Amino acid sequence: MNCVICGEPAVEIKEVKPARYRAETVEVPKAFFRCGSCKEEFVTPEQMRAYVRAVKNEVRKKYGLLSPEKIAEIRQRLRLTQSELENVLGTGPKVVVRWESGKVIQGGGHDNMLRLLDRQPSILNSLRQIQELRSVEKDKHAEPSSATDGHRQDVNA
Ligand SMILES: [Zn+2]
Repeated sequence: MNCVICGEPAVEIKEVKPARYRAETVEVPKAFFRCGSCKEEFVTPEQMRAYVRAVKNEVRKKYGLLSPEKIAEIRQRLRLTQSELENVLGTGPKVVVRWESGKVIQGGGHDNMLRLLDRQPSILNSLRQIQELRSVEKDKHAEPSSATDGHRQDVNA
């Protein structure tokens, strides 16, 4: 890698730097380049991504939350796809995808749920029933307005 300022060769350096993530401060190694000539320091997008991932992993450790690898492991043991697990947990789409890629840190409630599912896979059936019930209730709720075909019903009638 050559210096972005003067074009001379730059060397990759790793230094532990403090980083803030929400309320937490963690210290993780950060890789960056330093020019051998003008001493300019710069970070490549790849180094930045790795650093952000490392910071989030450190925050997970600090809170005692499952690592992205561990989440993927649990999901695979349950034989679920990412979107199936999102459905079962009632998260939005692409949420498990982001947990497993390390982009987003799961909250404590979801972390507990994942650990519960790992210890007692039969909970999966209960969660599926809850999701089913929920969609039935949603349909019921949606029916009256579509049945009246745009005509508003007087609630007090
Ligand atoms: Zn330079």
